Amino acid sequence: MTDAPLIDPFHRAITYLRVSVTDRCDFRCVYCMSENMTFLPKKELLTLEELDRMCSAFVRLGVEKLRITGGEPLVRKGIMTFFNAMSRHLDSGALKELTLTTNGSQLARFAGELSSAGVRRINVSLDTLDEDKFAQITRWGRLPQVMKGIDAAQAAGMRIKINVVALKGFNEDELFPIVDWCAERDMDLTFIEVMPMGDIGNENRLGQYWSLKDLRAKLAERFTLIDLAERTGGPARYVQLQETGQKIGFITPLTHNFCESCNRVRITCTGEIYMCLGQEDMADLRAPLRSHPEDDRPLEEAIRTAIALKPKGHDFDYSRQELGGQMSRHMSHTGG
Ligand code: SAM
Ligand code: SF4
Repeated sequence: MTDAPLIDPFHRAITYLRVSVTDRCDFRCVYCMSENMTFLPKKELLTLEELDRMCSAFVRLGVEKLRITGGEPLVRKGIMTFFNAMSRHLDSGALKELTLTTNGSQLARFAGELSSAGVRRINVSLDTLDEDKFAQITRWGRLPQVMKGIDAAQAAGMRIKINVVALKGFNEDELFPIVDWCAERDMDLTFIEVMPMGDIGNENRLGQYWSLKDLRAKLAERFTLIDLAERTGGPARYVQLQETGQKIGFITPLTHNFCESCNRVRITCTGEIYMCLGQEDMADLRAPLRSHPEDDRPLEEAIRTAIALKPKGHDFDYSRQELGGQMSRHMSHTGG
């Protein structure tokens, strides 16, 4: 089946889909979830078959890159069935990249299978190299388990990018140790500015905000930073460290305007499509999917209608914010 590609009203081609496959997680990172999260009833979630139909529809409509996220994608029961199914789109050439963002806790178990399914690169989130601090920030996570996962992923031949959320007073002192560690292990590294999302309990998120401008300035005290022109259609900007050749990314959704080149949409674990990370605009794709089990046309129509509503840009603004999250949904629902 050939279909016209997805182009939004601002002439942006939608080629990148991020899909949250579960809202559940085996960690409780303080900036992401409260300790007592209430998760969705199972029947609300897209089944593995529905996820397959959904992603395959997007691939037919021109999506070339698929990122699986969550919650923690690798705690979703049977998720390897889904990865194995998606590999057919890699084999056909329609999909150029199948990847995931993970906390690494289950990687030791799944690295081999992911690699066999065609996953070549993965993002692993890790904010500190200190065991005690790791337990503090993730509440339920254990660093050695994640390290084993990283070892397994590299042994399976996957390229790793470490995602670090920049947190004032938490990992500021680890900037250089983390950079050095990534260089030693030949891993890419990206810093993420903390975003105001979801009700996460009593943590004071504003107090944790560490501007990447400041982080960058600190990095420049030791390294010569060369700005790279590379753009991925998202909020990341890259520099190269002249001294080591390392590439470092900065994701600054609050302070940078990247919307004009936005190439992506997000699907939640319940089948809602969010056209913009920073806005509440969304549409339900589960209804057309569920009510037409044999026919994908209503789903494709709903996707096109949603893309036609993709907003021009977003508007995060701490100054208009109370201490709670500005975006009422959790990152684990939409997928980070
Ligand atoms: N569980 C997986 C993981 O941690 O990599 C995938 C989902 S997680 C929601 C995706 C990314 O979002 C992680 O890198 C995490 O650090 C980041 N994240 C979560 N809450 C955030 C927030 N409030 N601000 C910025 N990044 C956040
Ligand atoms: Fe789980 Fe990832 Fe959120 Fe941490 S950031 S609680 S690992 S979903």
